[in-house]
Amino acid sequence: MVVVGVLSLQGDFLEHLQLLSEIDGVKALPVRSAKDLARIDALVIPGGESTTIGFLMRLRGLDSAIIDLAREGRPIMGTCAGAVLLAKRVADRVVGDTGQPLLELMDIAVKRNAFGRQRESFEVELSLEGIGSMKAIFIRAPAIVEAWGDAKIVAYVDYPGIGRVGAVAIQKNALAVTFHPEISRDTKLYEYLVSLVKK
Ligand code: GLN
Repeated sequence: MVVVGVLSLQGDFLEHLQLLSEIDGVKALPVRSAKDLARIDALVIPGGESTTIGFLMRLRGLDSAIIDLAREGRPIMGTCAGAVLLAKRVADRVVGDTGQPLLELMDIAVKRNAFGRQRESFEVELSLEGIGSMKAIFIRAPAIVEAWGDAKIVAYVDYPGIGRVGAVAIQKNALAVTFHPEISRDTKLYEYLVSLVKK
């Protein structure tokens, strides 16, 4: 049994927990404190508001504990707001520099709210190199605008007026996913995350 934790401070963590619990061989566990991290093999950071999740993480001493977990090699996947938190560089489409707390675990630059407001949410079929294709739902999503070092963009999305930007990036045991697999209920990314767990 592989135990996958879902950071459960703010955002749509319940949807991730529900979907993970439906995957064979996976036990899903909510993570609310640093001590919960000792019990998990991999971590998911959900969508929500990255600024809020970042501040709550810091308040509970979870930021440095999550950085340690990832550096030890345990797999980590950030979706939407979670992808923002994994980035080394973040700017908002409208306000620019956000100064928000980040984990800075991935060599990627993201633009927050890159596609516009809630009403500009959209769905598209994406192909992810090495993982397969899936329906991707973007809700006030960030875009991955740059990847360097060991980080590689493995899926792109083309959007009118914006062009081709990164939708998924992978850097060793870390994955930044700008859309919501917990809403489309496609398990491929979770299975990929689980496959990275060291036996
Ligand atoms: N716009 C949010 C942020 O940047 C992310 C939205 C989401 O997770 N659906 O924090």
